[in-house]
Amino acid sequence: MTDTERSGVVLKGVGGFYYVLSEGRVFECKAGGRLRLGELSPVAGDSVRFELSGEDGLITAISPRRNSLTRPPVANIDRLFIVASSAPPAADPTLIDTVTVIALWQDIEPIIVLNKCDIDPSDELYDTYTRAGFRVIRASAVTGQGIEEVRALAREGISCFTGNSGIGKSSILNCLMPERGLLVGRISKKIARGRNTTRQSELFPCGDGFVIDTPGFSAFEITREDDIRKEQLQHYFPEITGYFDKCRFAGCAHIKEPGCAVRQRVADGLIPRTRYLSYCKIYEDLARIKDWERK
Ligand code: GDP
Ligand code: ZN
Repeated sequence: MTDTERSGVVLKGVGGFYYVLSEGRVFECKAGGRLRLGELSPVAGDSVRFELSGEDGLITAISPRRNSLTRPPVANIDRLFIVASSAPPAADPTLIDTVTVIALWQDIEPIIVLNKCDIDPSDELYDTYTRAGFRVIRASAVTGQGIEEVRALAREGISCFTGNSGIGKSSILNCLMPERGLLVGRISKKIARGRNTTRQSELFPCGDGFVIDTPGFSAFEITREDDIRKEQLQHYFPEITGYFDKCRFAGCAHIKEPGCAVRQRVADGLIPRTRYLSYCKIYEDLARIKDWERK
């Protein structure tokens, strides 16, 4: 590294400018020409190197990404907090399960946060997702229950938060980051030069880690680009993974084959029915995606 070369983490990108946190300061950077030629633009969460000239930086390299989400664009995610509740507006379990599939496929740890426990303990969801092998945290943005547990996990690496509107995601983020205003102010001062004022997804420091808000579950549709094969789907349902080699037929899809150990477990109440129904629904969706590809 030269004197003027630094490394940092991209907090957000707005209109061709990237805000990079490096040694406790935020630098406004552009992306160097070589990066643009490579068709790789920096996104929030990227580890980058940049050359500083005066106050402005030029990003010269992006470290290889461990994983990424496209809506919003964010890279190198360690965990995804999925905020859900049985209290209204209750989440559709298939949406939660689709999100967990995408997370596991991307090697992101899904963590279920059952918010609004002050009005409903969400026992069924707790049971379902605990049995699936996920970490489940009962929380309340009103009483503060579970918030410290969420914070302790979010203090390292990059954490995303998703959940359908009205579930209390903003309330939880506000509990986690009372200091959030500080950095927002610092970045907005730069953006106030009249560039782009659209609200963008942004990483906020939390301890040694970062958190980023993610729009509702609808951002997690499985698309063709995701390239999840229907045969692989069973690997992203941890409670099914342990049983599929016990089915009568090798290559059993667990949909209607005779002698299916997975369906037997569902019938016996050992695998929650909502999870199995999600499996079938997502399997059908994936089968359709493959049909398009064959065209
Ligand atoms: P978001 O759309 O997911 O960001 O939800 P908000 O954070 O805006 O919260 C939606 C509504 O739920 C607001 O009226 C909050 O006051 C309320 N709310 C959020 N968290 C809790 C909670 O833990 N318990 C209760 N009882 N209400 C909550
Ligand atoms: Zn089977």
